[in-house]
Amino acid sequence: MDPIPSSPTSEEPFSTNLNIPGSSSSSSSSSSSAASPSPSRYESQKRRDWNTFNQYLRNHRPPLALPQCSGAHVLEFLRYLDQFGKTKVHSHMCPFFGHPNPPAPCPCPLRQAWGSLDALIGRLRAAFEENGGRPESNPFGSRAVRLYLREVRELQSKARGISYEKKKRKKPPVLPPGDPPAGTT
Ligand SMILES: [Zn+2]
Repeated sequence: MDPIPSSPTSEEPFSTNLNIPGSSSSSSSSSSSAASPSPSRYESQKRRDWNTFNQYLRNHRPPLALPQCSGAHVLEFLRYLDQFGKTKVHSHMCPFFGHPNPPAPCPCPLRQAWGSLDALIGRLRAAFEENGGRPESNPFGSRAVRLYLREVRELQSKARGISYEKKKRKKPPVLPPGDPPAGTT
């Protein structure tokens, strides 16, 4: 469906497709299960991400079991994924810092786009609990991961001159009924 992009302008900040070699090559060997209807794109993507993460754990040195997994390991995983990224993130020294569409190549590194990482973490967070993980020990929901994603968003929006602010309506704070104003006795 998607033709091969001819220019870097076709990068989508919210693309959820991670470009990870080998992530889909491990055969799932479940070709005979015709009982379930074809899963949604989100579900199949989630399963693929979960497999990728578990593969990462198996290849980890020293070996790492899922219950031992902390937010720090998730960050390690995200940084590992950066080597497969396709999003140019300019350094402060680069003349194209802040340009969404630089006119010439530069030696700045390619990273996973923030939108991809954000969506990935959302799927892995759900998959962790669907696979028996306890919500209170979900490493994908840890504070370290949230802070890291926020940092990446800041950095990439500055480096690429793209605002990642979602159109989110700010709800006014809802006060509980009957809450007395401060200072009353
Ligand atoms: Zn650059």
